Amino acid sequence: MQQPTSTAVAPLKRPSATIPTEVFLRYLLPVILVHLLGLLAVLPFFFSWTGVIVCVLGIHLFGQAITMGYHRLLAHRSFTAPRWFEWTLTGLALCCLQDTPARWVATHRKHHVHSDEDEDPHTPRVAFLWSHLGWLMLRNHDLTHVSNYSRFARDILEDPFYFWLERHPVAPLVIYFGQCALFFGIPCGIAALLGTPIAEAVLLGASVVVWGVFARTVLVWHITWSVNSLTHMFGYSSHDTGEHSRNNWFVALVAAGEGWHNNHHHDPSACTVQHRWWEFDLTYWEVRALQAIGVVQSITPLRSERIRRAGKSPPRSAVEPIVAAK
Ligand SMILES: [Zn+2]
Ligand SMILES: [Zn+2]
Repeated sequence: MQQPTSTAVAPLKRPSATIPTEVFLRYLLPVILVHLLGLLAVLPFFFSWTGVIVCVLGIHLFGQAITMGYHRLLAHRSFTAPRWFEWTLTGLALCCLQDTPARWVATHRKHHVHSDEDEDPHTPRVAFLWSHLGWLMLRNHDLTHVSNYSRFARDILEDPFYFWLERHPVAPLVIYFGQCALFFGIPCGIAALLGTPIAEAVLLGASVVVWGVFARTVLVWHITWSVNSLTHMFGYSSHDTGEHSRNNWFVALVAAGEGWHNNHHHDPSACTVQHRWWEFDLTYWEVRALQAIGVVQSITPLRSERIRRAGKSPPRSAVEPIVAAK
């Protein structure tokens, strides 16, 4: 049943574990730097159609590393995948500069458990800008404390690669900036082999880096951040979830289905967030396509289907383990 779309909710203060004077430079500096580098895309000097195409394709590919990889596979375990596929998604996600798998997952599971409450890391009840990106800029001691990892990301840290990433915080930055060599070298090399003058080939490589890495990173950031901000402010709710999650068609469009966020909060274990035929969930259908060709398995269906298969109404705790949140 569709609920009113009121956003008039009582404001909250920032989580008590954040301190206004403790700016998290590890996030602030890369966010400022990559935004500035991404803005180079507006200069005609760096324009190329190759760069634009790489950017558009990259928004989907790397965006899905976050949506399908970090969110639906790692945070909610809504399907299973072989290690090579999971690590491929994680590698692409690290190229988005959106934190390590354990930290991303722990933060997201905490959001589900404390949605729009004091301990929610990024509720817009504090402020829109806080939920969009402000929460990343101040150190939140709750998110970095070992108890947060042990409660919300214990299963993630059992993976030696993910554990190694936590022990080497510079590694994600090396991976991120390392991708620039590929995005520069491949188009530049191909152009040079095809006889393009070397100066033009170098400029093409630079264009692909500016568009295909930096502009793409900025756009994927804001798409992901919109799920935290816009979908807890604007849209309709189909389910009474006890917080302010909303179904937002715009975010669903740009984030491959993630905008049906009220549906997701209602049933976070399910792989799909499509509750009506027109609430199209592109990510789910891509997971189904991957299942059809044998890459992924064990897709978790909607709660109603899980209950039907169980033949009874199991208690909520049996349906929603903590790793599936809420
Ligand atoms: Zn949410
Ligand atoms: Zn979620």
